[in-house]
Amino acid sequence: MTRARHIPDEGDFEGEGRPGSFRLIPGERAGEYEFAYICPCGCGAEGWLLVGHGHKPMGRRASWKWNGSTSAPTLEPSINHVGHWHGWLRDGVWKEV
Ligand SMILES: [Zn+2]
Repeated sequence: MTRARHIPDEGDFEGEGRPGSFRLIPGERAGEYEFAYICPCGCGAEGWLLVGHGHKPMGRRASWKWNGSTSAPTLEPSINHVGHWHGWLRDGVWKEV
């Protein structure tokens, strides 16, 4: 179980590389963001997810519905960081399945 920590500053995010931390970058469309995160498994890899604030962006690529919270984020559906981590981000906690 790993806490999701919001790190808005890109430099801090890249520098710390703490498992489960994340930042949000505004996407091409209103209400859509790139959810950049450090893999919660501890390998240090960075992943990117297309998320929508309160909705699941449709159509172009895999996407997730984000509850809009940075302190206790929830994403649906589950996240599969291919090869080494598969689980859920719910209420600010990464939980492996
Ligand atoms: Zn990993």
